[in-house]
Amino acid sequence: MNKHDLVCINCPLSCALELYDEGGEVKEVKGAECKIGQRYAVEEFKNPRRLLTTTVKAVGGLVPMLPVRSAEPIPRALLKDAVTTLARLVVDAPVAVGQVIYPDILGTGTDIIASRALEKLDGD
Ligand code: SF4
Repeated sequence: MNKHDLVCINCPLSCALELYDEGGEVKEVKGAECKIGQRYAVEEFKNPRRLLTTTVKAVGGLVPMLPVRSAEPIPRALLKDAVTTLARLVVDAPVAVGQVIYPDILGTGTDIIASRALEKLDGD
């Protein structure tokens, strides 16, 4: 069996987890104080996901960049491609906080949304 050391990030206890697999099949998870940690270890082993945070170019606003994030965590393996995709994007001010900036990024079913509002520059 293969052993994988993980740390649960779901609460301040930060339980040290040990996941054991055989041929990619999860056999056992040790060290979790609750079921959330059990599920986290399996998900982290099979399909790790992360919240994407970055900025995109903006025109006509008070500042030239808009902070954005994924509405939900997306597969970690797609983070680089997603950032590359968003680097080509230019949004027009005004933008409301939570507004969808890029729907269904890379077919994940997850939208990229504005992390903050961007007001329009006076005179535009
Ligand atoms: S396993 Fe449960 S108790 Fe331990 S860090 Fe994760 S959420 Fe917290």
